[in-house]
Amino acid sequence: MFDKILIANRGEIALRIHRACKEMGIKTVAVHSTADADAMHVRLADEAVCIGPAPAKDSYLNQAAIISAALITGADAIHPGYGFLSENADFAEMVQTHGLTFIGPTPDMIRMMGDKISAKRAAIEAGLPVVPGTDGAIASLEEAKQYADHMGYPVVFKATAGGGGKGMRVVYSPDQLAEAFHLAQEEARVSFGNDQLYLEKYLQFPRHIEVQVLADKYGEVVCLGDRDCSLQRNHQKVIEETPSPALNQSQRKELLEKVRTAMERIHYTNLGTVEFLFEDGRFYFLEMNTRLQVEHPVTEAVCGIDLVREQIRLAAGERLGYRQRDIRFTGHAIECRINAENPETFMPSAGKVGCWHVPGGLSVRVDSALYSGYKIPPYYDSLIAKLIVTGRTRNSMLMRLHRALDEFVIEGIETTIPLHQKIIAHREFIDGQYDIHWLERTLPHLKQD
Ligand code: ADP
Repeated sequence: MFDKILIANRGEIALRIHRACKEMGIKTVAVHSTADADAMHVRLADEAVCIGPAPAKDSYLNQAAIISAALITGADAIHPGYGFLSENADFAEMVQTHGLTFIGPTPDMIRMMGDKISAKRAAIEAGLPVVPGTDGAIASLEEAKQYADHMGYPVVFKATAGGGGKGMRVVYSPDQLAEAFHLAQEEARVSFGNDQLYLEKYLQFPRHIEVQVLADKYGEVVCLGDRDCSLQRNHQKVIEETPSPALNQSQRKELLEKVRTAMERIHYTNLGTVEFLFEDGRFYFLEMNTRLQVEHPVTEAVCGIDLVREQIRLAAGERLGYRQRDIRFTGHAIECRINAENPETFMPSAGKVGCWHVPGGLSVRVDSALYSGYKIPPYYDSLIAKLIVTGRTRNSMLMRLHRALDEFVIEGIETTIPLHQKIIAHREFIDGQYDIHWLERTLPHLKQD
């Protein structure tokens, strides 16, 4: 087992990883930008190294500085968290080249899944159903037009190097095609330095359902249930829950079995998430995330497995030690992503946190790196807290979430707590009747209430 792990991240996830390390008796090294000198992950870690100025490209994305920090402090492994370098295959390789362990799958696997076209090809070969679309990058507008006419509208342009919903453009009719093509290309070039696009059929009312997987280096794979992440804004998740209210037991069983077999076939290792769209009783593979996800705590809540601990154990070469049939799922869990944003305009709201009071009580978990008096820097993601609540039934979980949101006090900055309160009071949400466009359709009405 590792003696010391460097955590190449910030915010709540850096703290989450630190906690798992401490419970395993592993020492931690925090890295931080100059803007994060007072951050909680820096305060709690055994050691901390400043790796550069505030902009992420000079600090949290500064590969050489991070590797140097690991070597200087004598760390044996690097945990990348999510975002930043977590899905950068070259970084994972560089970590290995320096004699350190990258806590994640192999660089080759990250590379294959990081390119959406090669990921889709791998999914097809592994027996997973995919969204109908081009089987490679599109060479020209003319080619896109032929595909779209053949598939039928609406269609969506997506960046092969995509992530975070960027470089996606939906096209409802042929006259919109040219403009969408150029805009998507431009956005992909700016965001990813790669303007390759592909085309997919655009599903109109799907749900986003994903499966959490764990796999050891000896061929044992388990699926830790599904998560429904259909509540989105701008293709970004807002609320996630497990189990999905949209699936019946036989659909769930079929999905988990398909994913488990696919992971065995591609020899996946460590932790990952396979994402699908689900419409009219059918699943369509979307992409695979080869890292820990923001919403991992809902899975932990229903199956009682510490996913970060498992990631570390598996990276150290340990065996999973249990099988699919040993996994027990209990109750329902939900997560609200609380952002430092105006709940109506979604304008970021950086600044100094005043009073900070987190909800507690049975089955309530708050993952956050905030504290009273902390100044939220304007340079990074606006996620400031995750509220995770569990209940024996979906209804009791929602009642508990309601009271937990009411107890939450964050003063000095604007947060999306009022938005969450409105969403969970909405009849359609309570009934579990929502697809990936529900929030955007419903937002104008939520504001008036
Ligand atoms: P990213 O990696 O940028 O997050 P994804 O491929 O995971 O991109 O898609 C993000 C979100 O966009 C999905 O959760 C879904 O809401 C929507 N989406 C993606 N592809 C389609 C599609 N073919 N039809 C309808 N919605 C889609």
